[in-house]
Formats: sequence, C-alpha cells, structure tokens
Amino acid sequence: MSEDIRDLVEGVVDGSISDEDLISWLRQVHSGSISEADTIALTEAMRDSGDTLSWDSAISELVSDKHSTGGVGDKVSLVLAPALAACGLKVPMISGRGLGHTGGTLDKLESIPGFSVEMNSEQIQAQVLDIGLAMVGQTERLVPADRRMYALRDVTGTIDSIPLITSSIVSKKAAEGLSALVLDVKFGRAAFMVEQAKARELAQSMVSASQGMGISTTAVLSSMDVPLGCAIGNSLEVLESVEALCGNGPSDLEELICIQGGLLLHSTGLAEDRDSGALKIHDSLHDGSALECFRMMIDAQGGDSSILDSDSSLMKGLGLIDPELNATSLCVAESGWVMDIDALSIALVCQGLGAGRTELGESIDRAVGAILEVQVGDRIESGEPWITLYHRGEIGSSVVESLIESIELIDEEFDSGSRILEVIE
Ligand code: URA
Repeated sequence: MSEDIRDLVEGVVDGSISDEDLISWLRQVHSGSISEADTIALTEAMRDSGDTLSWDSAISELVSDKHSTGGVGDKVSLVLAPALAACGLKVPMISGRGLGHTGGTLDKLESIPGFSVEMNSEQIQAQVLDIGLAMVGQTERLVPADRRMYALRDVTGTIDSIPLITSSIVSKKAAEGLSALVLDVKFGRAAFMVEQAKARELAQSMVSASQGMGISTTAVLSSMDVPLGCAIGNSLEVLESVEALCGNGPSDLEELICIQGGLLLHSTGLAEDRDSGALKIHDSLHDGSALECFRMMIDAQGGDSSILDSDSSLMKGLGLIDPELNATSLCVAESGWVMDIDALSIALVCQGLGAGRTELGESIDRAVGAILEVQVGDRIESGEPWITLYHRGEIGSSVVESLIESIELIDEEFDSGSRILEVIE
C-alpha cells in the first residue's frame, strides 16, 4: 500500500492522475479511513513531492516549529518563534494567511512596515542559521501535492477527514526538516474542530504521523471559545505580541506560549523537563532576549524595526494612529463577573468590518479589529466599556446588536482556569 500511495502522490504532482481518479480516491479516504501506517506513508510522500529544507548536522537537532489549527486572537507564533530562537532553537516557520473568521500569521507580520514574508529555501536556511528564525509564506516548491489535493478537497466536501488534514498539515511542517514540533489543536465554537473529541482525534493522528516520520512531536489541546488575549485584528495583534515580548502580555497568551515553548525545549534536550523549559521561555520574554530576536528578524526581512523604539512609533508604524480610524467602545448595562466572551461572533464582526477575508486573495484592512477591555474572570461595573472596535466610517446597529449577546456576566466570582485541556505526548 505504501508504494501505491507514493505512486499516487507522484501522479498528483506530474499530472498523470486525473482529477476524476484523484477525487474518487479522496472520497474513499474521506468516507472510510486509512491505517496509521498509510497516513504516515501519505504524509511522507507529500513531504517529498517538492523541495525540503535541509540542515547541517551541527544544528539539525535544534530545528523546531509549532503549528496551530487556528483561532481568534491567536498571535502565539509571533511571540513564540523569537522566544524559541532566544533560547537557542532554530525556527524556520512557514505560515499561512487568514481566511474566514480566523487570522493568519503572515497577515499580522505584514502590518509591520516593509516586512517581507517571501523567501526561497536558500534564504530561509541562511537566515535561520544566522539569527535563529525566519517567518515566511509557503513557496510554490514546498509540498506541491498539497496544493492540488487541497483544491480538490475544497470543492468536493472532503476537507474534514482526519487522515487528509493530518497529511496536509504535517507534510508541510515536515518539509521544514524539523527535529521537533508542537501542535496547538483548538476545540470550541471558534475552532476548526468544534468538538473536543474530534480535536483530540486530530491531535493524536497528527502526533502519530509526525512521530512516525522521526519528528519529536507533542500536542496541546486548547479551548477556542473565547478570544486569546485581548487583541483581535492584524495590527492590534502585533501590538499585543510586542507587549508579550516585553513581558507585559495577557496571562492566557503567556501561558500558551510558555507551555508550547517548554515542550519544544524539552523535546530538543535544551530543558530537563517541560516546566523548566517553560520557565526559560518565560525568562526570555521578561529579560528582553525574545524581543531582540524579533527585532533582528524584522531587520533581516526588510521591515522597519525602529517602530519598536517607543509606544508612539509602534502605534504609528502599525497604522493605528490614523484620523480615518474610528474607535467605538461598547459598555455593559449591568455589573458582574465576566463568565464568557464569544470569540466567534466577535471574529465575524471584525471580519465584516474589513479585518478578514471571505475569499482567498481578498485585500484586508490591517488596522481594523477589536480590543477586549476585560477578560473572562474579570469584574466589570455597569456602564464600563468591555470592548473597543477599531473601524472605518460608522458601525451599523446590527454590529452593536450582535455584540450585546457576545458577553455573559454572572453575579459570583469564579476561577476562570486554564484554556489548556491536556497535553498529548
Ligand atoms: N489546514 C491545512 O493546511 N490543511 C488542511 O487539510 C486543513 C487545514
């Protein structure tokens, strides 16, 4: 079977397999399943369908990355990649753009004036060797099989198949030549996989495929019911990422960064266990070393790192000081403890205001978004603002109405707990 899968993937790339035959195979996998061994064979064949990054033996064991299945306010990559580099890892992070209600790392990075996410394999390798990290977009030559397979899955309703999602995601990460990988698999109303059980199944499948290819892999199962941190929208998320890189990020964001970073430092032998690894990541956020790596990356990728020099230059550089950008705060009518904030409805509002795309290739307004003035577990008094929207022109009454339903208050204080449900090793 493994040989058949390799032939099939070769046919996907050289065009010798027709769309009809490929669709029929995709439907077969989607309606049934394939074995763990065949999922690994498929993932390996997809990885090998194009260029792969290669690393000198002196550093290959340090080459690491993370992947998130996507969420609202998920700016972990922007902070974690420089923190990992500051702790000695080598991070060739290849990311995607936002689509629908979820954001994308590339769109966020492009809020930084001049920052380029286009690099070829040689440039990525040279930069990672030099400064420890690169954050870039997918090149044409990396995993070309996935492009054709994904496009056909998209039009045939075969996206939601665990082995097909596994091979699509893990092959692209494996093409980076990784030794270690951490996956953040989200569940909840604003997640790609809404149900916890399905998200766990996907996490287990991805861990197994990635481990099967020799990559030391762990997964974090985390809730995506509520936005991560306080900022939603591209420029605002970069602003919050810089705060996190200065040790002033919201605690839920910092927790996710430290846990994932700790797992990678442990996997690569740079920390005795995941807790001491998490502490190292925490220190890099509080001693300026992660921020310094972020600055070096901005310089290396053509961006203007002087925006990091002061709060005002950062706001201006990110396009947030703009007379045409309006800020509208919404207030609560009663006092209480914040029990819930609906990530999906807020993300859809931001998308509707221009922060996100409905179709691939659509342009977006990077300055548009929202800041949560409170987080789950906080106390808020009647008449105080709970969210501020950054938008152009006026906002309609339908926006205000949909947001009124997005916050839930209760009378009793409670422990909001962690958004991390479990770690799969
Ligand atoms: N993201 C991917 O890259 N591939 C999938 O199949 C699903 C989400």
